[in-house]
Amino acid sequence: MISKEEIEKMIEVANKTEKFAYIFKSSHRFGAAVLTAKGEIFGGCNMDGVISSLGSCAEMVALHHALAHGNYDIKAVLVIDEKRYEFPCGSCLQLICQFQQSSQQKIEIISAKTNGEYLIKSLDELLPLGYYSTSFEEKLKSFKNYDD
Ligand SMILES: [Zn+2]
Repeated sequence: MISKEEIEKMIEVANKTEKFAYIFKSSHRFGAAVLTAKGEIFGGCNMDGVISSLGSCAEMVALHHALAHGNYDIKAVLVIDEKRYEFPCGSCLQLICQFQQSSQQKIEIISAKTNGEYLIKSLDELLPLGYYSTSFEEKLKSFKNYDD
């Protein structure tokens, strides 16, 4: 279970990264943060693409950020918005599902507002019928965090 202190640190990181949003089509800035099993937090912001499919959600950028630092074991993903509770989109939930299959640990999803209020949901609540690969199950489980 994620602690209040961990959530507060994630909110701080998501608030910082939100301002880097690389947007020119959408008018909505998002910040996100990923907490790894090692207790590290990686931020992300959304980005638009001139070609729409090149854009990314803040959560996806944060997951890639954690991955690029050798983290496959994800404990929680947080998305932040100024005014209302937002949760990851279906694509992001499916990617989180893949990380859940790798780590075999339940991943919590936190929706936070910039004022510090938040809601916690499990991935299974938000994506109850997520796709878990049987073909790649063993390969997914073989990814372990790198130690620095
Ligand atoms: Zn998304």
